[in-house]
Amino acid sequence: ILRQFAGPLIAILLVAAVVCVFLGDYKDAAFIGVVLILNAMIGAWQEWKAEQSSQALKKLLQIHAHVFRDGHLRDLPAEQLAPGDVVQLESGNRVPADVRLLSAQGLEVDESLLTGESLTVLKDSAWTGDERSALGERRNMAFAGSIATRGRARGLVVATGHSTQVGQLAADVAHAEVGKPPLLLRMEKATNVIAVATVAASILVGILGYSTGRYGLAEMFMIAVALAVSAIPEGLPVALTIALSVATTRMARRGVIVRKLTAVEGLGSCTLVATDKTGTLTVNELTVREVRLPDGSIYQSTGQGFAPIGEIQSQSGTSTGPGESPNLRELTRAAVLCNEATLDLRDDEWEWNGDAVDIALLTWGRKLGLTRDEALASAPQESQIPFESERQYAATIHADHDQARIFVKGAPEKILAMCAGRTSLDGAESTAQQMAEQGYRVLALASGPVSDWDSRDWDARPPDSLALLGFAGMIDPLRKGVRDAVHSCHSAGVQVSMVTGDHRITALAIARELDLATDPSEVITGPELEQLSEEQLSESIGRIRVFARVAPRQKLQIVEAARRAGHFVAVTGDGANDAPALRAANISVAMGKMGTDVAREASELVISDDNFTTIVAGIEEGRVAYDNIRKVILLLVTTGTGEVIFMGLSILTGLPLPLTPVQLLWLNLVTNGIQDVALAFEPGEDDVLERKPRPTDEPVFDKLMLQRIGIASMVMGVTTFLVFGWMIRNDWTLESARNIALLLMVLYENFHLGNCRSETRSAFALSPLRSPMLLGGAIIALLVHVVAMNTPFMQSILGTEPVSLTQWAVCVFAPRDIGGGLALQWTRAAERGRPSAGCGGLHTPQ
Ligand code: ADP
Ligand code: MG
Repeated sequence: ILRQFAGPLIAILLVAAVVCVFLGDYKDAAFIGVVLILNAMIGAWQEWKAEQSSQALKKLLQIHAHVFRDGHLRDLPAEQLAPGDVVQLESGNRVPADVRLLSAQGLEVDESLLTGESLTVLKDSAWTGDERSALGERRNMAFAGSIATRGRARGLVVATGHSTQVGQLAADVAHAEVGKPPLLLRMEKATNVIAVATVAASILVGILGYSTGRYGLAEMFMIAVALAVSAIPEGLPVALTIALSVATTRMARRGVIVRKLTAVEGLGSCTLVATDKTGTLTVNELTVREVRLPDGSIYQSTGQGFAPIGEIQSQSGTSTGPGESPNLRELTRAAVLCNEATLDLRDDEWEWNGDAVDIALLTWGRKLGLTRDEALASAPQESQIPFESERQYAATIHADHDQARIFVKGAPEKILAMCAGRTSLDGAESTAQQMAEQGYRVLALASGPVSDWDSRDWDARPPDSLALLGFAGMIDPLRKGVRDAVHSCHSAGVQVSMVTGDHRITALAIARELDLATDPSEVITGPELEQLSEEQLSESIGRIRVFARVAPRQKLQIVEAARRAGHFVAVTGDGANDAPALRAANISVAMGKMGTDVAREASELVISDDNFTTIVAGIEEGRVAYDNIRKVILLLVTTGTGEVIFMGLSILTGLPLPLTPVQLLWLNLVTNGIQDVALAFEPGEDDVLERKPRPTDEPVFDKLMLQRIGIASMVMGVTTFLVFGWMIRNDWTLESARNIALLLMVLYENFHLGNCRSETRSAFALSPLRSPMLLGGAIIALLVHVVAMNTPFMQSILGTEPVSLTQWAVCVFAPRDIGGGLALQWTRAAERGRPSAGCGGLHTPQ
């Protein structure tokens, strides 16, 4: 709460309050005090809420652990781990607890959080050493909070929570940053500049005014304070914060979780979305539809999804069992052996865990009657080369009939290269090609005996002279609504580019289904991309819609090229190696479900359902948020400028101070305060997704905004000045004249609220019932003011008084009849005719 009292605005008000006390003006001092306290309370409440939602966020982003429970691999929150649990680690995981490694296959861990060492450490479960070794040396341990960047491992939990090494450091592992967005910072800065400038100007006016001798010292001081109060948009910081948090809530409702408030306004301005294919455009529920063997025979499966319901038919249409074709059986054995997933029947429900490609292969095996456990029973696994995106294949080594045998599966180019020493590949390449043209994700499978497997560096010397077993073609249905979402992006001026590790032909087939690309020239592959210079790549960004066979590190190149080409880039990511690309993007979007811990922590937004359509919803909400921010600014700055014009004209023409500082605070913070909060809740205009994105360097105060502020504030300021001058010249008491001027300003504010609902459309073009919140806000603001005019307590603080019906007429007609002369003449006549008309009435000497 105390922090809320910092800042130049508060300082001005504090000084004003203190001077009021010295001048014996306790009521004003008290009002300013109340305003300060209210302001602090609202600010503190906002901060508390932001803190609260970041707590909720932490829960959402909690670290998951793959842990064995009851003999099954389960996905549990890390809090539920206990010492003694056995956990599985994969590249992309945050290590959920301190674990003693039982086995590790190429596990590399980033321990920079603990040791400050930025190079990854290769772990080794067989390492033994002194118990006093430094953390970085204990290669048989993986510590909570560090990140597995490569490889696989299994480990025994030895410490959890606060007992872990990092827990003892009391470092905050899952720290979600809630910094202030640049827009807010920019506006706060602007407010502060305005504040300082106004104070300087006010002091100057004060000295000048005093030296003319027309105003007394105390009066001149109040004029200076009033000027300062009117020019500073006091409500702006709070209103902006509210607008952004409203947007955050709306996004959350549509499945977009905002980790950084910056991203709210940012997503609305993005001009290019580089999206993953698998899981984002498609459902990532792969089904092996077709298998082709090197001898040309084709087998197809029925059924859809991971549940192994359906059968395998040979091309001739007869149902097939494993016994019928030894070649098919051998391919299927490789598919289930070289596999990291699980698929089990538990309580009559199929349960699966692991990579979609792997589960799909297990499903195929089950349909043929072959389970992983059976296959393992006759060929126990000795070692593994786990799948990593940049490797594009996976392999396992098994003891098969007293002989070590390697089974590999992966991208056809990779696998065929491993078979080059043995098989003639002409037919094989065209088979893979044909399958990809049908939109299948194609994997090749191969196997062969190996001798030196335990000492060999597989990345330097991949397997060679294997026997090709065949190809598996998998379908991955498009997500519902994705095609429409791509269309929405196009009409919103946002380019969509697909970035995938899949084959170019498969990727193009899917892009065609989405209307994303039609021509092979719109596709580029990772190896082709390698040949391009930075400039060539930037130039081609606008043309290329599909990036295929892209290695994770190339994603970064694509993002950088797009930014150089002037794009504001949103990037989706899920893998362990996507973090650099995510950090380089203007807006980073992680997948909540399939995404790895690393990707989620590197991102500003998390899409809870992994769905591309949700990103488009986020773009829409981002645009609405920025629109609403502009609307709030338009309303507040117009009122402030109108007040300055009114006050300036009055002082220049020697009229008394037209509104007291307290009345100005009332206008800026109370009535405007209610209105701008209502404005922050405005629903989006119909055309948000049909406009082009806003240029990100576009200033908040662009030409249209300045024009609108200028015109509206002139109308407000000048007419109120004319009415006020007329009232003073006609011997109204100062209090009555101020009262009418204040009411007039409140009415203007409400009227302008209608103007602010759209930047391009008239207030009359939109039905007032479109946003009940706004109508309600206007009514409440007016009611609050009417109450303030009619209750003795508020009257004594604000210097208000009730107005008669005819005075209302003055206010209502003034905008139409600049000067309000006619209406006032008529009012005066009416008042004279009915001297006792007033519920309070006029205080003019008759
Ligand atoms: P995507 O962007 O489509 O998710 P990936 O990088 O995951 O691409 O996969 C690239 C290629 O690696 C795929 O086209 C496939 O051939 C192969 N692949 C994918 N998953 C596996 C896996 N679990 N085991 C072996 N190979 C795989
Ligand atoms: Mg993938």
